Amino acid sequence: MTQDSPNDLTPQQVWELIDQRISSIAHAPAENHQGLKERLPLLQALDRVLAQDVTSPLDVPPHHNSAMDGYAFMGSALGQTSSEEVQLQVVGTALAGKSWNGAVSAGQCVRVTTGAVMPAGFDTVVPQEMVQHVQHSTPPNAIRFKTAHLKAGDNRRLRGEDVAQGSVALHQGQRLNPAALGLMASLGLDQAVVYRRLKVAYFSTGDELLTQGELPREGALYDSNRYSVLGLLSRLGCEVLDLGVVRDDPVQLKAAFEQGSAQTDAIITSGGVSVGEADFTKSLMKELGDVAFWRIAMKPGRPMAMGRMGQAVWFGLPGNPVAVMVTFLALVRPALLKLMGLRSQDIGGPPMLKASSAETLSKKPGRTEYLRVCVTRHPDGHLQAATTGLQGSGMLSSMVQANGLMVLPHHQGNVAIGDEVYVMMFEGVM
Ligand code: AMP
Ligand code: MG
Repeated sequence: MTQDSPNDLTPQQVWELIDQRISSIAHAPAENHQGLKERLPLLQALDRVLAQDVTSPLDVPPHHNSAMDGYAFMGSALGQTSSEEVQLQVVGTALAGKSWNGAVSAGQCVRVTTGAVMPAGFDTVVPQEMVQHVQHSTPPNAIRFKTAHLKAGDNRRLRGEDVAQGSVALHQGQRLNPAALGLMASLGLDQAVVYRRLKVAYFSTGDELLTQGELPREGALYDSNRYSVLGLLSRLGCEVLDLGVVRDDPVQLKAAFEQGSAQTDAIITSGGVSVGEADFTKSLMKELGDVAFWRIAMKPGRPMAMGRMGQAVWFGLPGNPVAVMVTFLALVRPALLKLMGLRSQDIGGPPMLKASSAETLSKKPGRTEYLRVCVTRHPDGHLQAATTGLQGSGMLSSMVQANGLMVLPHHQGNVAIGDEVYVMMFEGVM
C-alpha cells in the first residue's frame, strides 16, 4: 500500500480535468450529426436524453375546469352578501367530459365534478362537503354554504396553468423520466426526439483473472469487475460492448483497445493502472492516444487513468472491485452523463443525503474516503448511517449490504457518534 502524497489530486480536481477533456454528444461537430438523434415512440424513450426542446402545441389543461366535486358559481356572490351564508339555485350539472352550456346568472350554480369544464361566467367552486341542501326552497333545488373559508377563484384550474401553448414544456438535455413521459403525453405527443444511446466498451485486465466457466487455478480469481461495471452501465442506459478479460499482454491489450475505440464513444477498463503496473499500460497507451495517469487522494480508488483514442474516451479504473465501483460512481458516471448530452445542472454524482454517523470512525485529513454504509431511519425520525462491515477495497460483501457511500471530505478528521455526514445514495444508480 503506497502512502498518500501531497501531490495527489482531490476527486474534485480530477473531475475538473475529466470535465475539460470531454464534450457532450450535444456539441458534436456537424459532420458527426448523422445518427446522433433518433425519434422514438414515447414509451421507448424512457430514460433517454431529449435532443431538442419540446414546445407545447396546446394549453394544458385545455379549459378552465373544476378542481373539486362541488358547485360552480360566480365568485362575486361571495362579496355581495352581508350574511355569513350564500344561497344559490342549482340549474344544471357539468361532468368531466360532459359540459353544461346553458346561460348562467348570479344567484345560480351548476353542480360540477372534478375536471368538468367551468360553465362560462362561473369562476369559483364550493366543494360539495361545504354545502347544505335547502329544504322546500322556491324555486326548488337550492344549496347554501358559509362564505368564511372561500374566496373568488377557489377550486378552479385555469386553462394553460400547467403548460401554456407555445411555451417550452421540456428542455433539450433533460432525461425523460416517467413524469416527463406523462407531460409529453399530456401535450398529445406520442414520440420524442432523443440522443442515441451512448456506446461503451468494457474489459477487465489481469493475468490472474478467471472468466466464469473456467476452472479455479492457483493464484487466480474470478473477474467480478466486468459484472459490476456492465451492470452500472446498463443502469445508466448505455449500450455496452463486453470485451471480456484481456491478459496483461501488449498485443492483446492493443487489439482490445482498437476494437473498442472503433465502435464506441467510451472504453472503460479495470486494472493495470496501479503504480506497479502503470508503466506497462502507459507505454502502450501512449502509442494509441493521448493519456493521463492520476493519483487521487481518495480511498478506495487511488489510481485512475484517462485518455482519448480516436473518437473514444478511455477511463482506466483501478483493479480492486470496490475501488472500481467507487471511482465509477464518483468520476466516470458524471462524465458519461455529460457525454450523453444531459444538461449541465443534472450532471453530477448520485443524490446525497444528510445523516448522522451511528459510530465513531477514524479518518485522516488529506484524502476523501468513501465508506460503505446503510442509511436507516432512527425511531426518532432522523437518518442514521452505519458501516456495513469490513471496508477493504476488494470486499464486495459490504458493498452489497450498503445502500450508499458515506463521503468523508478531504479535510475531515475523525468522526464522532452523532456527527453529521453526507451519504451518496445508490437508489436508482445501482
Ligand atoms: P491491479 O489494479 O490490476 O493491480 O489490481 C488490483 C487488485 O484487484 C488485485 O488484487 C487484482 O487481483 C484485483 N482485480 C483486478 N481486476 C479484477 C477483476 N476484474 N475482478 C476482480 N478482482 C480484480
Ligand atoms: Mg492487474
